Amino acid sequence: MARVVVLGAGISGHTAALHLRRMLGKGDQVVVVSPNSKWNWIPSNIWVGVGKMTSDQVTFPLAPIYRRKGIEFHQALATALYPEGSSDVASPHVAITYTDPARVNESATLSYDYLINATGPKLNFAATPGLGPDGHTLSVCTAQHATETAARLAAVIERMRNGERQRLVIGVGHGTCTCEGAAFEYTFNVEHELRAAGVREMADVTYFTNEYELGDFGVGGMVFAQRGFETTSKMWTESLFRERGVHAVLQAHVEMIEPGVIHYEQLDGTKSTLEFDFAMLLPPFRGADLQAFDATGQEVSSEVFAPSGFMKVDANYAATPYEEWRAEDWPSTYESARFANVFGVGIAFAPPHQISRPRTSPNGTVITPAPPRTGMPSGVMGKTVALTIADRIKSGESVAPHKASMATMGAACVASAGVGLRNGSAAAMTMYPVVPDFQRYPETGRSLKDTFGEIGLAGHWIKYMLHLVFIYKAKARPLWFMIPE
Ligand SMILES: Cc1cc2nc3c(=O)[nH]c(=O)nc-3n(C[C@H](O)[C@H](O)[C@H](O)COP(=O)(O)OP(=O)(O)OC[C@H]3O[C@@H](n4cnc5c(N)ncnc54)[C@H](O)[C@@H]3O)c2cc1C
Repeated sequence: MARVVVLGAGISGHTAALHLRRMLGKGDQVVVVSPNSKWNWIPSNIWVGVGKMTSDQVTFPLAPIYRRKGIEFHQALATALYPEGSSDVASPHVAITYTDPARVNESATLSYDYLINATGPKLNFAATPGLGPDGHTLSVCTAQHATETAARLAAVIERMRNGERQRLVIGVGHGTCTCEGAAFEYTFNVEHELRAAGVREMADVTYFTNEYELGDFGVGGMVFAQRGFETTSKMWTESLFRERGVHAVLQAHVEMIEPGVIHYEQLDGTKSTLEFDFAMLLPPFRGADLQAFDATGQEVSSEVFAPSGFMKVDANYAATPYEEWRAEDWPSTYESARFANVFGVGIAFAPPHQISRPRTSPNGTVITPAPPRTGMPSGVMGKTVALTIADRIKSGESVAPHKASMATMGAACVASAGVGLRNGSAAAMTMYPVVPDFQRYPETGRSLKDTFGEIGLAGHWIKYMLHLVFIYKAKARPLWFMIPE
């Protein structure tokens, strides 16, 4: 009998747990630890943030699904890993603290044969003074944040109806943020709502980003083949900004937020301020607050985790200049760099470097998007690691791992630009591979045949369909496993 513990019930952890349960025998145990009682389809938080969906439409309780599937669930936060055991517990184990209201703040340990760290991002609002819902800006990172943001948006729309001009700023709240695609989506959803409310001419809408140019999205931009011509995500995105009258502040790092004022620095070293009546700025991410200890009780966190808190896996972490970055630097098995039976997937693994070219201001401030790890790659990593673990449980530890590198994986991103079954729109993009491979595709780093973008109503339908399909899948309804990650 084997026991697999999965930390995190987001896109990667929940996918891994469901596949493991399906692939392993009844005698094997699958255990999930996650601090929230509910699963959240995070991409649709954008629609909650403009009041077009409720929190209940994008979340559901995990416990009944896990009960039905025979997965042990602990509503708790993992705090420390003991992969070699400890003086108290001989087997590899993880320390947890319950958030479950019935056992809140109780501590426990869970032993495992295999451990998957799928703890995603810690929303690091603290990196920027004044950033976030506890400071002076809003967020759509959780369903609760998005609900609060929708109420604030409704209030500024009301002010515009009463003849008050409003300044709306949407983007990222630090020079090293990722998830620019989500900020872009929220910008155009808000812009769409302002038009629908008949107040567009009363609003100044600004997209605020650390990207070097529009269309970078943290993946260094894309070159598309469109109707036989080549175009770039920069040109494509710029035309949307022009058409919708959205201003952009590029190459920006937020230093501090005061009530109604963003203090920021740009790549050329200049410092400025931007006033706002409504600001939704995404936070930078770091890894969950996990520590790791060896058998003697010595802390080995710096060997297991990168300084960012993300888990070091089978990547090449040697510091090399941009020109020497290679597709092979990216991990493919997600095995911990230190412990063979521990894996880090989704946002929880430490990327070897950015994808966009790194840039620093004359003051030494890093202003470069961190590499995104979106839903599709996160789900694929979860399934890949589940396959490896299931094989090893059935056939022995020496079985070769399954592989899925972001440098050989494609991704489809559908960025909503306004909700509505008849008048909605979305920018649908596919790229292959996610991490450019200039050895294989010397001109653009990606396959022109498999990288494209299209904007229109069809994109909105796809986005809405993905919402329904992925919630169906996450609820483990009949034949859920036939739906690709
Ligand atoms: C606003 C927004 C919009 C987005 N839109 C899109 C989109 O349109 N398309 C797309 O592909 N991607 C999108 N993304 C990105 C997508 O949400 C992520 O790629 C995906 O959620 C990553 O999966 P994950 O499993 O790594 O992390 P998550 O899904 O964040 O899951 C992490 C899990 O770990 C849990 N956890 C945290 N700490 C601990 C701990 N100490 N112990 C145990 N559990 C812990 C969390 O509670 C959570 O359950 C968006 C992201 C945001 C913020």
